[in-house]
Formats: sequence, structure tokens, C-alpha cells
Amino acid sequence: MKKSKITITDISDDVLKKKGFDHKGCYGCSCNDSCCRYGCEVDKESYDLIFQNRKIIEKSIGIKLEECFEKEWSDDDEYLGNNSVDTKTFKGYCAFKLKDKKGCILFELVSKNKVSRRIIPSICRLYPLTWGNGKLTITDDREKHCNYLQKDNKSKKTVLETQMEHVKDIFHIEGKAKEIISS
Ligand code: SF4
Ligand code: SF4
Repeated sequence: MKKSKITITDISDDVLKKKGFDHKGCYGCSCNDSCCRYGCEVDKESYDLIFQNRKIIEKSIGIKLEECFEKEWSDDDEYLGNNSVDTKTFKGYCAFKLKDKKGCILFELVSKNKVSRRIIPSICRLYPLTWGNGKLTITDDREKHCNYLQKDNKSKKTVLETQMEHVKDIFHIEGKAKEIISS
């Protein structure tokens, strides 16, 4: 059966301590969308939704969807839809990055066209959070210009709090992770 959620049973300490995004968010940050330079792993569920919306996406990015993905699937079932595939990069950015402006066509489809938020790969919705082997963790902070890492970050929320809406949609939260989140 295809998973509608990914199960997590633990949360690392730094997820509970590190400051989250402040009011400036991604669009107010001078990061040049550096987190999108490497492409991303796309959940099978997101992949299917991307193909269901192919006309509008291809018109925006100017690339056929078949050219946007690597050929090999991960066969890793810790993704929505039980599998994932990597995006390709073009001109130094993920295939789905908007041309000549900040942002991503998949985020834009959710905010402007009311497409299900599950069209956005989980890894992109959760950033800088990530997961593996049932544990929610934080990425390696390699994007030095990212909003949450700035010295003037005035956020009073942790990264778990700022990403909580996505955490709750993507994960089935059990065990120690459930205790931490409900405390
Ligand atoms: S997640 Fe960070 S690096 Fe990526 S667009 Fe937002 S502020 Fe920029
Ligand atoms: S899918 Fe969108 S948010 Fe994710 S890496 Fe690609 S352009 Fe960035």
C-alpha cells in the first residue's frame, strides 16, 4: 500500500534548539535560492502531481518534464508514494526553479493555482529539516546565506515550530517524536 505519510519516531536535539525562519522568509532573503542549486529528491506522490500539471509547468520552465528527472529511482520507501527520483539541474539550478526571478514553479502552483501542496517535494517543504531512518534532523547548514542562519535572525520560533505545518502534513509522528511534539 502506498504511504500517505512517512513515519518518524525520533527528533534530533538541534531541531528543537535552532532558530527557524524569521519574518523575511525566503522571498526577503538575499540567498539567490542557493538551496535549489543541486536539485532535489522528488517524492513519487509529488512526481505524479507534477505530471498532472505538466502543461502549466512546461510553459513556465520551458523544459519537457521527461527531461527534468534522472532515470534511476531510489526505491527508498521513506518518501510519500514509497519512492523518489532526483531532479536534473539546468544552468546551475533545479529544473523547477523559476526563470529570472526568485522561487519555484511548484510553490507558485500551490500559492496561485491552489494545487495540492503535495506537489512540492517533501525535502523542499521541510528545508532545513530533513529525515532518515525514522528520525527528523537538520541539514548540514551548507547554505550560509539562508534566512534562518543570518546573524540578525529575530525569530522567536525554533526551526521545528516554523516548519510544523509541513511536519504534520508529511509525517506520521510516533513514539519519542510524538512525546516531544506534544510536550
Ligand atoms: S530555504 Fe534558505 S536558501 Fe532556500 S530560498 Fe529560502 S532562504 Fe533561500
Ligand atoms: S523543486 Fe523547487 S524548491 Fe525544490 S529544489 Fe527544485 S526549484 Fe528548489
